Amino acid sequence: MGKVFLVGAGPGDPELLTVKATRLLASANIVLHDSLVSREVLALISPAAQVIDVGKRAGQKLLTQDEINALLVSYAESHPIVVRLKGGDPSIFGRAGEEISALRKASIDFEIVPGITSALASAAAAGISLTDRRVASQVLFTTFSRGADGSAMDWGCVTSTTTLVLYMPGPDYAEVAQRLAEGGLPADLPCVIVSSASGPRQEIRWSDVARLASEEKLPAPALLIVGRVARQQVEEIGASFWPGKTPERPAKQISVI
Ligand code: SAH
Repeated sequence: MGKVFLVGAGPGDPELLTVKATRLLASANIVLHDSLVSREVLALISPAAQVIDVGKRAGQKLLTQDEINALLVSYAESHPIVVRLKGGDPSIFGRAGEEISALRKASIDFEIVPGITSALASAAAAGISLTDRRVASQVLFTTFSRGADGSAMDWGCVTSTTTLVLYMPGPDYAEVAQRLAEGGLPADLPCVIVSSASGPRQEIRWSDVARLASEEKLPAPALLIVGRVARQQVEEIGASFWPGKTPERPAKQISVI
């Protein structure tokens, strides 16, 4: 029986891989990777390893999560080192939970090797601190695009000192801006869109909740950081974005389905 390593490939730059990830890529017998993993990282995989892109079309059809789970289990029965390589960190919007459940159920040994999630790489690219203590006290990693499970954005935990990181914002910035406004975020609250953080095509666009709707789309993958820290000059951030002196919850709290 082999072992499955759920490995974080980081945001793209191969220098942002962990030493452990780099070692595992060089010694893997088989690697199953997502489409988000950069070419530069894939180039570090042992030439002797079998490489399967499970994020692209396999033959005629897209692999479902259940099929990927089944592949991991069956490859672990015949290969000593199976690497499941995921963009960023495997445990952040990476469906690692389902794969872990399948491996546990099949009594297959596994290990998670964390990676640099794109929120951290994007903040680094923009040169901002997600928890700048002058204006932020907490960070929320979230997304609007949750599946059919109906989970809603919990605006109740968003305060004036929350930095919101929105994964998978999608191409419709007008809709994103509308949802943020409906959630009670002030129109002049800064935000920054970071596309392909750490990669050669990295792009950064500074905006705010109101202007976001009309911003030109940046290519995927991109994420959005919203909050008082999301400003080129954090010193310019006054209390003006949020009414009241103390951190308050947004005036209007609604659930976004
Ligand atoms: N596990 C990944 C996230 C997977 S969800 C991680 O930890 O980063 C996919 C989303 O991640 C994309 O829609 C985008 O919002 C974000 N993303 C992934 N790589 C990115 C990058 N290099 N730059 C900006 N955003 C990225």
